[in-house]
Amino acid sequence: TEFRLSDFEKLRVLGHGNGGTVYRVRHRRSAAVYALKVVHADPSLRRQAYREIDILRRATDSDHVVCIHSVVHTPTGDVALLLEHMDGGSLDALLRRRGSRPFPESALASIARQALLGLAELHSRQIVHRDIKPANLLVNSAGVIKIADFGVGKVLRRSLDPCDSYVGTCAYMSPERFDPASHGGDYDPYAADVWSLGLAVLELHRGHFPLLPEGAQPDWAALMVAICLGETIGAVAEGAASCEFRGFIECCLQKESGKRWSVAELLGHPFVARADRAESEQALRELVRENSAES
Ligand code: ADP
Repeated sequence: TEFRLSDFEKLRVLGHGNGGTVYRVRHRRSAAVYALKVVHADPSLRRQAYREIDILRRATDSDHVVCIHSVVHTPTGDVALLLEHMDGGSLDALLRRRGSRPFPESALASIARQALLGLAELHSRQIVHRDIKPANLLVNSAGVIKIADFGVGKVLRRSLDPCDSYVGTCAYMSPERFDPASHGGDYDPYAADVWSLGLAVLELHRGHFPLLPEGAQPDWAALMVAICLGETIGAVAEGAASCEFRGFIECCLQKESGKRWSVAELLGHPFVARADRAESEQALRELVRENSAES
């Protein structure tokens, strides 16, 4: 369907990203609610937006990738992506609304399973995300997790020093992406997504970014030390966690990408595979309800 910007009423801002703003909008005629990601008419941002549109369309039948309905062109040259609205928002916003209280493991089992299914769908289409982090994992009140934001990671791969412009993403980079030279220069991009997911799940379990002291500013040098030289597995052992959870995170955060488990292997890991599915889905729905994004 062809839409125009004037077909929609802006309800509120859902979030800001690198190149634009995401609004909750209502289609005037049908009253249907969507998320509208408006990307400014800067040439490089437009290229990024078109790359994101291309990827979202390739993944359009995926259950755990955010669905794109249409692309809306504005009179000023902005590009707007009409996306399905995820009413629970991103997992990092959910964590902030909880006052950084850790997520229960039962909910994390469902989050991990669904995010892995999303990665499996992407990886089977030769799509790598490259920017998996809590801000790019969305949830809705039905307890469904979907992967969003396919713009940033791809552009970063081409720039010479990805950390200069986007420190937040740097924090979730695997050792081989952070320092390719010391890993033979080449890396397995699928395994890099697994690292980032493991780190994101661990962050939600802890309530803060796990590789740096709580409240520390993630500067490049501190991250370099923590990711490439630090004991990531040691960070897992701190705090209360079940054996299954610890094991799962260890499989994701193997520094040598060859030793890291694949998405398919992780879907069979006891933390995900042996969790009571109904119970973990219920726990996730409750988490979303208790910390509603709409209020
Ligand atoms: P950018 O590519 O500019 O970083 P994102 O796609 O990551 O933008 O979106 C920024 C924020 O907007 C997200 O972290 C999330 O909070 C919110 N958001 C994005 N898409 C949706 C959506 N489909 N439903 C609800 N919230 C969304």
